Amino acid sequence: MLKTLAGKHKSAVTKMARRYKASIDTPDGRRTWFQVTVRREKGEKPLVARFGGIPLKCQRTVVIIDRQPVMATTRRNELIHRLLAGQCEICAGHAGLQVYHVRKLADLNRPGRPERPSWVHLMAMRKRKTLVVCERCHQDIHAGRSTASVRN
Ligand SMILES: [Zn+2]
Repeated sequence: MLKTLAGKHKSAVTKMARRYKASIDTPDGRRTWFQVTVRREKGEKPLVARFGGIPLKCQRTVVIIDRQPVMATTRRNELIHRLLAGQCEICAGHAGLQVYHVRKLADLNRPGRPERPSWVHLMAMRKRKTLVVCERCHQDIHAGRSTASVRN
């Protein structure tokens, strides 16, 4: 840090150390630290940043309380939840579940289709590019057949 500051101010490490050095007497002796103070307008407390000055002394009786780490996996994404539900989102069947995927939501609203099938309505309504479907409904979609009536 001192070296970076010295570089930015076109100065020397020792000069920077001298300028930002502060110290205090603790029960374990004098400790020094790096301190930057930014004065502000009248009535406002100056901004102070400190680094160091901590007595690195062993505390034999201290109780260590570890905080639980925030696990990235506790919040699964929505698609995983939908897959875990184990149900076709069209007919609620359970056989051979697959994920049907469209490239763009905009494709669902493409004009020129005489009548949008019910699964298109479902995907557009939910604003999702994926649909968890059973094998039969998946085949129906690709064959252009009408699927079972959509459940929500
Ligand atoms: Zn189905």
